[in-house]
Amino acid sequence: MLHPCLRCGACCAYFRVAFHWSETEPFLGGKVPLELTEKLDPHRVAMRGTHAAQPRCTALQGVIGEAARCGIYPLRPSVCREVQPSWESGAASPQCDKARRAHGLPVLQPEDWLHPFDADEPPLPRSA
Ligand code: SF4
Ligand code: SF4
Repeated sequence: MLHPCLRCGACCAYFRVAFHWSETEPFLGGKVPLELTEKLDPHRVAMRGTHAAQPRCTALQGVIGEAARCGIYPLRPSVCREVQPSWESGAASPQCDKARRAHGLPVLQPEDWLHPFDADEPPLPRSA
């Protein structure tokens, strides 16, 4: 059984993924590939594709609602690590629910976490 995020990807194609530019600066410990970002203002960049009328992060691979994964999972920005899938930690996640509804997917339920998941792929977008 795949982790629910690996059958989803909705939040990576719904929100503008903006964060401080220092996350792209290796000298400051940043890991996000600069070429996958665009400048928003003097302080912030956004993942390419997410600052659009119909957002889709350029790093998102696969088909939303079927099979999706983050192509830069170990290097993804802090805001991506903060999104929690609903009920993984015992509570609903407004961000998760909003993104899934926008893509016509049912919101996750506590029952979605009852089964063990395959360990060969990292989930997305939550923390490792
Ligand atoms: S956090 Fe929610 S919306 Fe984002 S990929 Fe996981 S299940 Fe989908
Ligand atoms: S988790 Fe990866 S694919 Fe999703 S928005 Fe963040 S960088 Fe993009």
